[in-house]
Amino acid sequence: EVDWFSLASILFLLMFAPLIVYYFIMSCDQYQCSLIDPLIDLLTGKKHLSDIWNKTPTLTYRAAGIYTLWVTFQVFLYVFVPDFCHKFLPGYVGGVQAGAVTPAGVVNKYEINGLQAWIVTHVLWFANAYYFHWFSPTIIFDNWIPLLWCANVLGYAVSTFAMIKSYFFPTNAKDCKFTGNFFYDYMMGIEFNPRIGKWFDFKLFFNGRPGIVAWTLINLSYAAKQQELYGQVTNSMVLVNVLQGIYVLDFFWNEAWYLKTIDICHDHFGWYLGWGDCVWLPYLYTLQGLYLVYHPVQLCTANAIGILVLGLIGYYIFRMTNHQKDLFRRTNGNCKIWGKKPEYIECSYMSADGTKYYSKLMTSGFWGWARHFNYTGDLMGSLAYCLTCGFEHILPYFYIVYMTILLTHRCIRDEHRCFSKYGKDWKRYTAAVPYRLIPGVF
Ligand code: NDP
Repeated sequence: EVDWFSLASILFLLMFAPLIVYYFIMSCDQYQCSLIDPLIDLLTGKKHLSDIWNKTPTLTYRAAGIYTLWVTFQVFLYVFVPDFCHKFLPGYVGGVQAGAVTPAGVVNKYEINGLQAWIVTHVLWFANAYYFHWFSPTIIFDNWIPLLWCANVLGYAVSTFAMIKSYFFPTNAKDCKFTGNFFYDYMMGIEFNPRIGKWFDFKLFFNGRPGIVAWTLINLSYAAKQQELYGQVTNSMVLVNVLQGIYVLDFFWNEAWYLKTIDICHDHFGWYLGWGDCVWLPYLYTLQGLYLVYHPVQLCTANAIGILVLGLIGYYIFRMTNHQKDLFRRTNGNCKIWGKKPEYIECSYMSADGTKYYSKLMTSGFWGWARHFNYTGDLMGSLAYCLTCGFEHILPYFYIVYMTILLTHRCIRDEHRCFSKYGKDWKRYTAAVPYRLIPGVF
């Protein structure tokens, strides 16, 4: 059943999320990244909506060509180039890997080759920038709004296709979830793991590529634009490139681990993931770099170091917390966390067919500090990206505000699910680890 609050939120997002993205990007293009000035112009009658709209770059053949080539290339790397990296990179888990068991009891196989796709793409990018000169490294920035229309076309097309597919030719009918509410089903998805053929998995492809591979390229394009406009790249831009680059590389290095996260294990594939990965992620997660093209902030050394340290500590917490849970679950608790045997709570749950299963919830390491300390680390890193932009405008701070809402909501959503799954055992766990994100506070 879909409660009214969920339905209202979904309708709000379906109507306003594309406008929010447009508003942010347009503000940079026409108002030097001020979020307030367009509103003042509109409210005082200095400008009409049509004036702003008429100044907005339209879809171009060039952008359509670039985008088609980009997505086709990523599909090619994903489907036709089996992973080679795991053969020579020690510690890297790639190649064919099994995902988690789905509610219908299916275990999907995935070709984990995201790191390889990222490396190939970036080698080509640098080869072009420094040697071949086929196109300017500012190409992404220069076509940013026309590309936005292309990303929207793909985002809507793939979400609509996924919806139609779930009715007429689902990959696994038993893993479909119909609520009967059209908007909810469109937004949150019906099929669990839609696929085309044996290997093209919608969730893995759209979550990681084209959005996350593009993330670092977008930042590089912004840095190139700064160089072109001002003859130098500021230390704030370098920090954004480095800190977000670490996050992106971490994602691909741990792509096999990613198969066990909520996105892949619990979320169905709808507009939320399809449109979100094509539009929301590449456009709004990269706002700091975009802002720095318009406002080239040069940080004093102390501030730059402070931000770098905050970002690295956040990343360390994020990675170590995720690693501790992964190790704990993989070894069924037979491991060492901070040099000691982990503490945990034994719990049980019942699957839909009535079978009883046993599991463990760790209460030591970072998981003893708070129930989602991985999110806390993520938030510290997100704050560091925003701080690189100084305090002149609020636009670059959108990311930390959004991530706080996203991860707090995710925390509550996950805990609701865990309570339904583990019942009284979950209560014992929350009594042992009483805080969610910040020990002693929340
Ligand atoms: P978690 O990795 O925190 O996984 C939550 C699940 O882990 C629970 O559902 C439960 O699953 C299990 N679990 C909970 N507590 C314990 C415990 N004490 N011991 C063992 N297992 C436990 O959540 P996500 O998948 O959401 O996040 C993964 C990472 O991805 C996070 O670091 C997050 O910050 C990041 N992320 C980033 C986003 C971005 O846009 N940048 C978006 C979303 C996530 P079970 O049913 O198996 O018990």
